[in-house]
Amino acid sequence: APVSRAVLDQFAKLVAQVQDNLTTLDQLVGDGDFGDNLAGGIRQAQTLNDAGTDGMQALAQAFLDNVGGTSGPLFGLLFQQLATVPWPDDQTPDPQAVAAAARSGLAAIHRAGGAEPGDCTLVDALTPAIQALTTATTESFTTAAEAAIRGAVGTASLASRRGRASYVGDRALGVPDPGALGTALLFTALSQVYE
Ligand code: ADP
Ligand code: MG
Ligand code: MG
Repeated sequence: APVSRAVLDQFAKLVAQVQDNLTTLDQLVGDGDFGDNLAGGIRQAQTLNDAGTDGMQALAQAFLDNVGGTSGPLFGLLFQQLATVPWPDDQTPDPQAVAAAARSGLAAIHRAGGAEPGDCTLVDALTPAIQALTTATTESFTTAAEAAIRGAVGTASLASRRGRASYVGDRALGVPDPGALGTALLFTALSQVYE
């Protein structure tokens, strides 16, 4: 089934609202392209979806093939696994199926980039989101979004051990990881569309 176009559009809307802030955070600890990478990838996915590609598949293709930066292919691996789940337009997808697919995506991200929980990366938002999806009995997507947001905000107090932010040492302390915040926006979009 095609992913609800609403997910793409809601994700795009949330990212647009904070795109400049994500860029600022990536300027503090990296090279300042994260906001543009994320927004640009979603825009390309919308174009692919306009041309008939299933929405989650469109996100996978856009991020794997065309988004630069470290986050592009890593998000692409997540979307590629999420694209294996049915995303019905008229009902909430099965949280356990989404959790299982996201867990496969997380494993692929770990194989590609080596990040563990606590390394101050998008893994620190994705891991609690999956945990919440797996265990919540009601409002699973809302619970997952809240867990992802908590995880992303919590990266502010972590020392970075992966990616460009690991090069700036203590300067990254106090700065939440932009990739983790972007991940939280994905789960927030899902919660807003489905709950
Ligand atoms: P780049 O540093 O190449 O410009 P981006 O700015 O597109 O990459 O993405 C930065 C984000 O990528 C970080 O905020 C972090 O969440 C994520 N990231 C970087 N390295 C890794 C890694 N090894 N594993 C998981 N996520 C990572
Ligand atoms: Mg960057
Ligand atoms: Mg870059």
